[in-house]
Amino acid sequence: MKLYCFLPLKRYYLCLNLNEFTQIGISFTLTTNKKKLNMIIDVHTHINNYHEDRVVSLEDCLNNLTDTMLANNVDYSLVLSSYKVNEHRPSTRQVVEAIKGRKNLGVVSGISYLHYDHRDVREISEYLENGFIKGLKFYPGYEPFYPNDIRFKLMYEMAVEYDVPVMFHSGDTYAPNGKVKYSHPLHIDDLAVDYPDLKIVICHVGNPWIKDCMEVVYKNKNVYADISGLVLGNFSDKFERYMKNEIEEMITYAGDPNYLLYGTDWPISNMGSYLKFMNQLELAEEKKELILWKNAAKLFKIDVENL
Ligand SMILES: [Zn+2]
Repeated sequence: MKLYCFLPLKRYYLCLNLNEFTQIGISFTLTTNKKKLNMIIDVHTHINNYHEDRVVSLEDCLNNLTDTMLANNVDYSLVLSSYKVNEHRPSTRQVVEAIKGRKNLGVVSGISYLHYDHRDVREISEYLENGFIKGLKFYPGYEPFYPNDIRFKLMYEMAVEYDVPVMFHSGDTYAPNGKVKYSHPLHIDDLAVDYPDLKIVICHVGNPWIKDCMEVVYKNKNVYADISGLVLGNFSDKFERYMKNEIEEMITYAGDPNYLLYGTDWPISNMGSYLKFMNQLELAEEKKELILWKNAAKLFKIDVENL
């Protein structure tokens, strides 16, 4: 009788064990896939020091960025250098040097309209050739020029040749001395038409001119938009509802979001609050994945397999 009880119990025990083993096996596979399925790429961060009362080292800024990424499960971020270089805003060269060995970061080089010279052009050309930068960033509004300005012809041709996107500040300026007529997203249309092989990103979805942005994105297959910098700090509930409608409307109008990129503008906007915002969008999971990382991985040629 005891034996009779023992064997089934033992079998049961074994069975349970196998079950656990199988469950561990499945959950491992899911975790492996989960990393790929739930990846997050932030295409728009800065390591400028916006609190200029104290100087923070470049290394501290980068550590702060990667710590914040880790806390929010962000797999990869692009750091956009500024159009200005001073003790609070590192040069592209400094950022390129500083991120060496950090495979979860990439650099997009800020370009100044007013101040670039032949050395900058040579450096950018070298960095593009060596793959040290993943794109170029222009700051109309902060500097007085329209995106189709002839002065940047060479830069756009380099971007086409090396197949990297050009990003444009668009919409409101963080600083009141910006001139927003230059940063209206409608001006991107001229550039998109004149350079059909140039891949263009309208940053901040042109906020508050999101309707104009959605038309430029809809009309031109070479134009993308990132959703960064919509708030200072955290979304309030009211603003989150408002922006949720705006972004959903954009997708309704312009179609499947294979043109939309996740970005925060960290440290100006909060990463956690941004992910909460993304979660609230009423979109199928596969469409969220396009926005959260798939579009960015393809556009910026990010080696997601090796992250
Ligand atoms: Zn920015």
